[in-house]
Amino acid sequence: MRAPEQLRFDGRVVIVTGAGAGLGRAYALLFASRGASVVVNDLGASRHGDGSSKVADTVVNEIIKNGGKAVANYDSVIDGAKIVKTAIDAFGRVDVVVNNAGILRDKSFSKMSETDWDLIHNIHLKAAFKVTQAAWPYFLKQKYGRVIVTSSNSGLYGNFGQANYSSAKMGLVGLASTLAIEGAQKNVHTNVIVPTAASRLTEDILPPDFFEQLKPELIAPVVAWLCHEKCMENGSIIESALGWAGKCHLIRSSGAILRQDLSSNVTPEVVEDKWSAITDMSSAKHFDSIGEVTGQFMEIAQKINSGN
Ligand code: NAD
Repeated sequence: MRAPEQLRFDGRVVIVTGAGAGLGRAYALLFASRGASVVVNDLGASRHGDGSSKVADTVVNEIIKNGGKAVANYDSVIDGAKIVKTAIDAFGRVDVVVNNAGILRDKSFSKMSETDWDLIHNIHLKAAFKVTQAAWPYFLKQKYGRVIVTSSNSGLYGNFGQANYSSAKMGLVGLASTLAIEGAQKNVHTNVIVPTAASRLTEDILPPDFFEQLKPELIAPVVAWLCHEKCMENGSIIESALGWAGKCHLIRSSGAILRQDLSSNVTPEVVEDKWSAITDMSSAKHFDSIGEVTGQFMEIAQKINSGN
């Protein structure tokens, strides 16, 4: 059997935010090893977002030592335009943005300060808006672009002490869903990665044996594929860990009609009566678009108009 052709990124310019450590470092090294010119962005903050250091340099040096092309950028992700400018100044274009930088400020909800809330929302959600928006005009003009946003199972399922983080991470899913629609006609694709990996963000919460197996390098190929020009996936949530990947969907029950006809009212008692049908997930389905949801509402309206 013929070996598959290697997926390359020659001539492509890739920005990876928070690439000085953990997942971002693994992404940057893989993209560079496949021919991409990489902007290694990292402020070098602590896991709580304090301080700064030149960790990006270490990754850039590693890439250059391996014969690759990379430059460092030390701006905070909140200064998205400066990071994109680094790509344009150094390499003349930008093709891929991997929004990866992140920090934690875990507190139970009753103790969470507005500062903890704002900081996490800024670094995760607003920064993805800023970096991606600065790259967007280049993507539209060249009719090619790939965007990754990084969510978390904490966002999809919730996690004690992470009201700020989980809400920002779910906000990123909403951002990606709309960018996928706005970019589709111009071959600009946006997908969500939901990683579980060994890093300083997870070192004190996972059992050591399991932690050992969660290598960021096992997730990087999934991100690389999503960013390749051959990959047509758009607007999807892809979860990955341990050398495994899967797609995640929102699903909705088929629900129940709560009134017989146009003249009848919906009361709380009817809702109570129908609750098991409303929440019965046995025939739940996924909707591909807001248009599909509206289409189903139109069918429900017809049923109500005709007395079911
Ligand atoms: P990490 O701490 O190893 O790496 C994050 C990097 O982001 C650090 O090098 C840090 O200096 C950098 N950074 C922080 N604030 C920055 C800023 N303002 N500007 C630029 N760089 C900044 O963490 P990681 O585990 O590799 O996490 C990467 C991403 O994956 C994060 O968005 C995180 O929320 C997400 N995530 C990780 C896991 C996991 O299991 N590790 C799970 C779900 C989501």
